[in-house]
Amino acid sequence: MVVFYCLLFSWLGNAALAFLSLKMMAIPLLGMVWFYWQQRSGRPPHYWKACLICQATVLAGILGGQGTQIGGHHYFLFFFLTTPLVVPTHDKRGMIIVSGICISWFCLFEWFTWPASAAVQALGQATIKLLYLNVLLSATLILFIAMLAGDYFSEALERRIQQMASTDELTGLANRRVFYQTLSQWQAAYHRKLRPFCVAVLDIDHFKHINDTHGHEAGDQVLCALSGLLQQGVTQEDRVCRIGGEEFAILLADRTLGQAYAVCEALRQRIAAEPLPAGNTALTVTVSLGLGQWDALQNEANFLTGIDRALYAAKHAGRNAVHLHHGPGSQTPSPQ
Ligand code: GH3
Ligand code: MG
Ligand code: MG
Repeated sequence: MVVFYCLLFSWLGNAALAFLSLKMMAIPLLGMVWFYWQQRSGRPPHYWKACLICQATVLAGILGGQGTQIGGHHYFLFFFLTTPLVVPTHDKRGMIIVSGICISWFCLFEWFTWPASAAVQALGQATIKLLYLNVLLSATLILFIAMLAGDYFSEALERRIQQMASTDELTGLANRRVFYQTLSQWQAAYHRKLRPFCVAVLDIDHFKHINDTHGHEAGDQVLCALSGLLQQGVTQEDRVCRIGGEEFAILLADRTLGQAYAVCEALRQRIAAEPLPAGNTALTVTVSLGLGQWDALQNEANFLTGIDRALYAAKHAGRNAVHLHHGPGSQTPSPQ
Protein backbone atom coordinates (compact mmCIF):
# COMPACT_ATOMS: atom_id res chain seq x y z
CA MET A 1 0.00 0.00 0.00
CA VAL A 2 2.83 2.40 0.85
CA VAL A 3 4.43 1.76 -2.56
CA PHE A 4 1.05 2.40 -4.16
CA TYR A 5 0.66 5.74 -2.32
CA CYS A 6 4.20 6.73 -3.24
CA LEU A 7 3.45 6.16 -6.95
CA LEU A 8 0.04 7.84 -6.66
CA PHE A 9 1.41 11.01 -5.04
CA SER A 10 4.23 11.13 -7.60
CA TRP A 11 1.63 10.84 -10.36
CA LEU A 12 -0.39 13.64 -8.72
CA GLY A 13 2.79 15.72 -8.74
CA ASN A 14 2.81 16.11 -4.94
CA ALA A 15 6.51 15.61 -4.18
CA ALA A 16 6.14 16.24 -0.42
CA LEU A 17 3.59 13.40 0.07
CA ALA A 18 5.48 11.08 -2.32
CA PHE A 19 8.63 11.68 -0.26
CA LEU A 20 6.70 11.02 2.98
CA SER A 21 5.51 7.64 1.58
CA LEU A 22 9.09 6.85 0.60
CA LYS A 23 10.21 7.50 4.21
CA MET A 24 7.30 5.42 5.54
CA MET A 25 8.51 2.47 3.41
CA ALA A 26 11.55 2.18 5.67
CA ILE A 27 9.36 0.77 8.48
CA PRO A 28 7.94 -2.31 6.63
CA LEU A 29 11.33 -2.86 4.96
CA LEU A 30 13.11 -2.93 8.33
CA GLY A 31 10.27 -5.13 9.60
CA MET A 32 10.86 -7.62 6.79
CA VAL A 33 14.60 -7.74 7.52
CA TRP A 34 13.78 -8.33 11.20
CA PHE A 35 11.30 -11.12 10.30
CA TYR A 36 13.84 -12.73 7.98
CA TRP A 37 16.53 -12.59 10.67
CA GLN A 38 14.15 -14.08 13.26
CA GLN A 39 13.21 -16.90 10.90
CA ARG A 40 16.88 -17.63 10.16
CA SER A 41 17.60 -17.89 13.89
CA GLY A 42 14.86 -20.54 14.05
CA ARG A 43 12.32 -18.47 15.97
CA PRO A 44 8.67 -19.10 15.07
CA PRO A 45 7.03 -16.22 13.13
CA HIS A 46 4.68 -14.09 15.23
CA TYR A 47 2.12 -12.53 12.89
CA TRP A 48 1.05 -9.99 15.50
CA LYS A 49 4.50 -8.45 15.17
CA ALA A 50 3.71 -7.90 11.46
CA CYS A 51 0.46 -6.24 12.57
CA LEU A 52 2.45 -3.90 14.86
CA ILE A 53 4.79 -3.02 11.96
CA CYS A 54 1.76 -2.15 9.78
CA GLN A 55 0.35 0.02 12.60
CA ALA A 56 3.68 1.82 13.02
CA THR A 57 3.74 2.55 9.27
CA VAL A 58 0.22 4.04 9.28
CA LEU A 59 1.00 6.03 12.41
CA ALA A 60 4.16 7.44 10.80
CA GLY A 61 2.08 8.51 7.78
CA ILE A 62 -0.58 10.30 9.87
CA LEU A 63 1.84 12.03 12.21
CA GLY A 64 4.35 12.70 9.44
CA GLY A 65 1.98 14.91 7.45
CA GLN A 66 -0.97 12.95 5.98
CA GLY A 67 -3.06 13.76 9.06
CA THR A 68 -6.53 12.24 9.42
CA GLN A 69 -8.09 14.22 6.59
CA ILE A 70 -7.64 11.46 4.00
CA GLY A 71 -8.93 8.85 6.49
CA GLY A 72 -5.66 6.90 6.91
CA HIS A 73 -6.66 6.09 10.52
CA HIS A 74 -9.37 3.76 9.18
CA TYR A 75 -6.58 1.24 8.58
CA PHE A 76 -6.48 0.82 12.41
CA LEU A 77 -10.12 -0.23 12.35
CA PHE A 78 -9.35 -2.91 9.76
CA PHE A 79 -6.23 -4.06 11.63
CA PHE A 80 -8.51 -4.41 14.66
CA LEU A 81 -10.79 -6.71 12.64
CA THR A 82 -7.84 -8.87 11.55
CA THR A 83 -6.60 -9.42 15.15
CA PRO A 84 -8.14 -12.94 15.46
CA LEU A 85 -6.17 -13.89 12.34
CA VAL A 86 -2.78 -12.74 13.58
CA VAL A 87 -2.96 -13.53 17.30
CA PRO A 88 -3.54 -17.16 18.36
CA THR A 89 -7.08 -17.30 19.83
CA HIS A 90 -5.84 -19.00 23.02
CA ASP A 91 -3.56 -16.00 23.71
CA LYS A 92 -6.21 -13.84 25.39
CA ARG A 93 -3.66 -11.33 26.68
CA GLY A 94 -2.09 -10.86 23.24
CA MET A 95 -5.53 -10.53 21.70
CA ILE A 96 -6.57 -7.78 24.15
CA ILE A 97 -3.27 -5.87 23.73
CA VAL A 98 -3.16 -5.96 19.90
CA SER A 99 -6.88 -5.30 19.35
CA GLY A 100 -6.85 -2.68 22.16
CA ILE A 101 -3.99 -0.76 20.54
CA CYS A 102 -5.69 -0.85 17.11
CA ILE A 103 -9.10 0.33 18.28
CA SER A 104 -7.56 2.98 20.59
CA TRP A 105 -5.63 4.56 17.72
CA PHE A 106 -8.74 4.57 15.54
CA CYS A 107 -10.97 6.17 18.22
CA LEU A 108 -8.28 8.67 19.16
CA PHE A 109 -7.86 9.94 15.59
CA GLU A 110 -11.59 9.76 14.83
CA TRP A 111 -12.44 11.99 17.80
CA PHE A 112 -9.51 14.34 18.02
CA THR A 113 -8.24 14.30 14.40
CA TRP A 114 -4.67 15.17 13.43
CA PRO A 115 -4.00 18.15 11.19
CA ALA A 116 -2.80 17.45 7.67
CA SER A 117 0.23 19.20 6.27
CA ALA A 118 0.07 21.92 3.66
CA ALA A 119 0.97 19.29 1.06
CA VAL A 120 -2.36 17.51 1.69
CA GLN A 121 -4.32 20.79 1.55
CA ALA A 122 -2.67 21.44 -1.83
CA LEU A 123 -4.33 18.33 -3.25
CA GLY A 124 -7.77 19.97 -3.38
CA GLN A 125 -11.07 18.76 -1.93
CA ALA A 126 -12.00 16.45 -4.84
CA THR A 127 -8.68 14.56 -4.67
CA ILE A 128 -8.88 14.34 -0.84
CA LYS A 129 -12.37 12.79 -1.17
CA LEU A 130 -11.05 10.27 -3.71
CA LEU A 131 -8.13 9.42 -1.42
CA TYR A 132 -10.56 8.93 1.48
CA LEU A 133 -12.57 6.50 -0.65
CA ASN A 134 -9.36 4.75 -1.70
CA VAL A 135 -8.36 4.26 1.96
CA LEU A 136 -11.71 2.63 2.76
CA LEU A 137 -11.62 0.38 -0.31
CA SER A 138 -7.98 -0.65 0.10
CA ALA A 139 -8.45 -1.33 3.83
CA THR A 140 -11.46 -3.54 2.99
CA LEU A 141 -9.28 -5.31 0.43
CA ILE A 142 -6.61 -5.87 3.10
CA LEU A 143 -9.23 -7.39 5.38
CA PHE A 144 -10.47 -9.62 2.56
CA ILE A 145 -6.94 -10.80 1.68
CA ALA A 146 -6.13 -11.37 5.36
CA MET A 147 -9.23 -13.56 5.71
CA LEU A 148 -8.32 -15.56 2.60
CA ALA A 149 -4.73 -15.95 3.83
CA GLY A 150 -5.99 -16.97 7.28
CA ASP A 151 -8.15 -19.65 5.69
CA TYR A 152 -5.28 -20.86 3.53
CA PHE A 153 -2.84 -21.04 6.45
CA SER A 154 -5.27 -22.82 8.75
CA GLU A 155 -5.93 -25.42 6.03
CA ALA A 156 -2.19 -25.86 5.44
CA LEU A 157 -1.64 -26.16 9.20
CA GLU A 158 -4.39 -28.76 9.48
CA ARG A 159 -2.83 -30.78 6.65
CA ARG A 160 0.58 -30.57 8.36
CA ILE A 161 -0.85 -31.66 11.72
CA GLN A 162 -2.66 -34.55 10.00
CA GLN A 163 0.56 -35.59 8.31
CA MET A 164 2.56 -35.36 11.55
CA ALA A 165 -0.05 -37.38 13.41
CA SER A 166 0.04 -40.17 10.84
CA THR A 167 3.74 -40.39 9.91
CA ASP A 168 6.63 -42.06 11.67
CA GLU A 169 9.29 -39.37 12.04
CA LEU A 170 12.36 -41.56 11.44
CA THR A 171 11.29 -43.67 8.47
CA GLY A 172 8.50 -41.57 6.95
CA LEU A 173 6.26 -44.65 6.98
CA ALA A 174 2.70 -44.60 8.26
CA ASN A 175 2.62 -45.00 12.04
CA ARG A 176 0.81 -47.31 14.46
CA ARG A 177 -2.28 -45.08 14.50
CA VAL A 178 -2.65 -45.36 10.71
CA PHE A 179 -2.17 -49.12 10.97
CA TYR A 180 -5.18 -49.49 13.29
CA GLN A 181 -7.26 -47.05 11.24
CA THR A 182 -6.49 -48.86 7.97
CA LEU A 183 -7.15 -52.23 9.60
CA SER A 184 -10.64 -51.05 10.66
CA GLN A 185 -11.34 -49.66 7.17
CA TRP A 186 -10.23 -52.87 5.50
CA GLN A 187 -12.35 -54.94 7.89
CA ALA A 188 -15.39 -52.85 6.89
CA ALA A 189 -14.52 -53.30 3.19
CA TYR A 190 -14.19 -57.05 3.78
CA HIS A 191 -17.66 -57.23 5.30
CA ARG A 192 -19.16 -55.18 2.43
CA LYS A 193 -17.44 -56.80 -0.55
CA LEU A 194 -15.69 -59.88 0.92
CA ARG A 195 -12.41 -58.32 -0.19
CA PRO A 196 -9.70 -60.58 1.29
CA PHE A 197 -6.66 -59.14 2.99
CA CYS A 198 -3.74 -60.25 5.15
CA VAL A 199 -1.63 -58.67 7.86
CA ALA A 200 2.03 -59.42 8.49
CA VAL A 201 3.96 -58.26 11.55
CA LEU A 202 7.71 -58.11 10.92
CA ASP A 203 10.42 -57.82 13.58
CA ILE A 204 14.14 -57.38 12.95
CA ASP A 205 16.22 -60.21 14.40
CA HIS A 206 18.77 -59.33 17.08
CA PHE A 207 18.40 -55.63 16.40
CA LYS A 208 19.68 -54.77 19.86
CA HIS A 209 22.99 -56.37 18.85
CA ILE A 210 23.22 -54.00 15.84
CA ASN A 211 22.68 -51.01 18.12
CA ASP A 212 25.16 -52.31 20.69
CA THR A 213 27.85 -53.08 18.11
CA HIS A 214 27.48 -50.26 15.58
CA GLY A 215 25.68 -47.55 17.56
CA HIS A 216 22.15 -46.21 17.67
CA GLU A 217 22.64 -44.03 14.58
CA ALA A 218 23.65 -47.03 12.49
CA GLY A 219 20.56 -48.78 13.87
CA ASP A 220 18.41 -45.86 12.70
CA GLN A 221 19.95 -46.10 9.23
CA VAL A 222 19.14 -49.80 9.08
CA LEU A 223 15.53 -49.02 10.03
CA CYS A 224 15.28 -46.45 7.22
CA ALA A 225 16.89 -48.71 4.62
CA LEU A 226 14.66 -51.60 5.64
CA SER A 227 11.59 -49.35 5.36
CA GLY A 228 12.62 -48.59 1.77
CA LEU A 229 12.97 -52.30 0.95
CA LEU A 230 9.58 -53.08 2.47
CA GLN A 231 7.88 -50.40 0.41
CA GLN A 232 9.56 -51.58 -2.76
CA GLY A 233 8.38 -55.13 -2.12
CA VAL A 234 4.65 -54.36 -1.94
CA THR A 235 2.08 -52.77 -4.24
CA GLN A 236 0.53 -49.28 -4.01
CA GLU A 237 -2.62 -50.86 -2.57
CA ASP A 238 -0.69 -52.32 0.36
CA ARG A 239 0.29 -50.39 3.47
CA VAL A 240 3.60 -50.58 5.35
CA CYS A 241 3.51 -49.10 8.87
CA ARG A 242 6.11 -48.80 11.61
CA ILE A 243 4.23 -49.93 14.70
CA GLY A 244 7.10 -50.10 17.20
CA GLY A 245 10.87 -49.67 17.58
CA GLU A 246 12.00 -52.36 15.12
CA GLU A 247 8.56 -53.74 14.40
CA PHE A 248 6.59 -53.17 11.20
CA ALA A 249 3.11 -54.15 10.06
CA ILE A 250 2.29 -54.81 6.42
CA LEU A 251 -1.32 -54.76 5.29
CA LEU A 252 -1.59 -56.78 2.09
CA ALA A 253 -4.67 -55.99 0.03
CA ASP A 254 -6.63 -58.50 -2.03
CA ARG A 255 -4.40 -61.43 -1.04
CA THR A 256 -5.27 -64.84 0.32
CA LEU A 257 -2.92 -66.34 2.90
CA GLY A 258 -1.00 -68.26 0.23
CA GLN A 259 -0.50 -65.19 -1.95
CA ALA A 260 0.52 -63.05 1.02
CA TYR A 261 2.95 -65.75 2.14
CA ALA A 262 4.69 -65.56 -1.25
CA VAL A 263 5.06 -61.75 -0.86
CA CYS A 264 6.42 -62.07 2.70
CA GLU A 265 8.83 -64.84 1.77
CA ALA A 266 10.16 -62.75 -1.13
CA LEU A 267 10.63 -59.81 1.25
CA ARG A 268 12.37 -61.94 3.87
CA GLN A 269 14.75 -63.44 1.31
CA ARG A 270 15.56 -60.08 -0.24
CA ILE A 271 16.28 -58.51 3.17
CA ALA A 272 18.57 -61.40 4.13
CA ALA A 273 20.41 -61.15 0.80
CA GLU A 274 20.86 -57.39 0.58
CA PRO A 275 23.23 -55.74 3.10
CA LEU A 276 21.76 -52.47 4.40
CA PRO A 277 23.83 -49.27 4.75
CA ALA A 278 24.77 -48.42 8.35
CA GLY A 279 27.40 -45.75 8.95
CA ASN A 280 30.55 -46.58 6.99
CA THR A 281 29.57 -50.16 6.50
CA ALA A 282 26.70 -52.32 5.24
CA LEU A 283 25.01 -54.86 7.48
CA THR A 284 23.18 -58.05 6.68
CA VAL A 285 20.03 -58.28 8.78
CA THR A 286 17.32 -60.89 8.93
CA VAL A 287 13.69 -60.53 9.88
CA SER A 288 10.98 -62.76 11.32
CA LEU A 289 7.35 -62.43 10.35
CA GLY A 290 3.95 -63.55 11.61
CA LEU A 291 1.24 -63.54 8.96
CA GLY A 292 -2.53 -64.02 9.05
CA GLN A 293 -5.55 -63.61 6.79
CA TRP A 294 -8.57 -61.73 8.08
CA ASP A 295 -11.81 -63.63 8.30
CA ALA A 296 -15.16 -62.80 9.80
CA LEU A 297 -14.98 -65.50 12.48
CA GLN A 298 -12.38 -63.73 14.60
CA ASN A 299 -12.26 -60.30 16.17
CA GLU A 300 -9.42 -57.81 15.74
CA ALA A 301 -7.78 -58.59 19.08
CA ASN A 302 -7.73 -62.37 18.44
CA PHE A 303 -6.49 -61.80 14.91
CA LEU A 304 -3.56 -59.63 16.00
CA THR A 305 -2.73 -61.90 18.94
CA GLY A 306 -2.65 -64.84 16.54
CA ILE A 307 -0.24 -63.02 14.22
CA ASP A 308 1.95 -62.07 17.21
CA ARG A 309 2.04 -65.72 18.29
CA ALA A 310 3.10 -66.72 14.77
CA LEU A 311 5.87 -64.11 14.94
CA TYR A 312 7.12 -65.45 18.27
CA ALA A 313 6.95 -68.99 16.87
CA ALA A 314 9.21 -67.81 14.01
CA LYS A 315 11.62 -66.31 16.57
CA HIS A 316 11.69 -69.46 18.67
CA ALA A 317 12.20 -71.63 15.59
CA GLY A 318 15.49 -69.85 14.91
CA ARG A 319 14.38 -66.51 13.31
CA ASN A 320 14.67 -65.42 9.64
CA ALA A 321 11.32 -67.07 8.82
CA VAL A 322 7.65 -66.42 8.06
CA HIS A 323 5.14 -68.24 10.30
CA LEU A 324 1.40 -68.34 9.77
CA HIS A 325 -1.59 -67.71 11.96
CA HIS A 326 -4.59 -69.77 10.86
CA GLY A 327 -7.84 -68.15 11.92
CA PRO A 328 -11.02 -70.17 12.53
CA GLY A 329 -12.35 -69.23 9.07
CA SER A 330 -9.09 -69.91 7.24
CA GLN A 331 -9.67 -72.18 4.24
CA THR A 332 -6.36 -71.69 2.47
CA PRO A 333 -4.05 -74.70 2.89
CA SER A 334 -0.84 -73.84 4.65
CA PRO A 335 2.07 -73.17 2.30
CA GLN A 336 4.46 -74.41 5.00
P1 GH3 B 1 14.74 -60.32 18.63
O1 GH3 B 1 15.42 -61.02 17.52
O2 GH3 B 1 14.25 -61.25 19.68
O3 GH3 B 1 13.66 -59.41 18.14
O4 GH3 B 1 15.83 -59.44 19.35
P2 GH3 B 1 16.00 -57.89 19.28
O5 GH3 B 1 17.35 -57.54 19.79
O6 GH3 B 1 15.68 -57.39 17.91
O7 GH3 B 1 14.85 -57.41 20.23
P3 GH3 B 1 14.86 -56.52 21.52
O8 GH3 B 1 13.42 -56.28 21.85
O9 GH3 B 1 15.69 -57.17 22.59
O10 GH3 B 1 15.57 -55.18 21.13
C1 GH3 B 1 14.99 -54.27 20.29
C2 GH3 B 1 15.94 -53.10 20.20
O11 GH3 B 1 15.46 -52.13 19.27
C3 GH3 B 1 16.10 -52.37 21.50
C4 GH3 B 1 16.00 -50.92 21.17
O12 GH3 B 1 17.09 -50.19 21.66
C5 GH3 B 1 16.02 -50.89 19.67
N1 GH3 B 1 15.26 -49.79 19.12
C6 GH3 B 1 13.95 -49.52 19.30
N2 GH3 B 1 13.60 -48.41 18.61
C7 GH3 B 1 14.72 -47.97 17.98
C8 GH3 B 1 15.01 -46.85 17.12
O13 GH3 B 1 14.15 -46.03 16.78
N3 GH3 B 1 16.28 -46.72 16.68
C9 GH3 B 1 17.27 -47.61 17.02
N4 GH3 B 1 18.46 -47.41 16.53
N5 GH3 B 1 17.03 -48.64 17.85
C10 GH3 B 1 15.78 -48.84 18.31
MG1 MG C 1 13.72 -57.66 17.16
MG1 MG D 1 10.68 -56.17 18.79
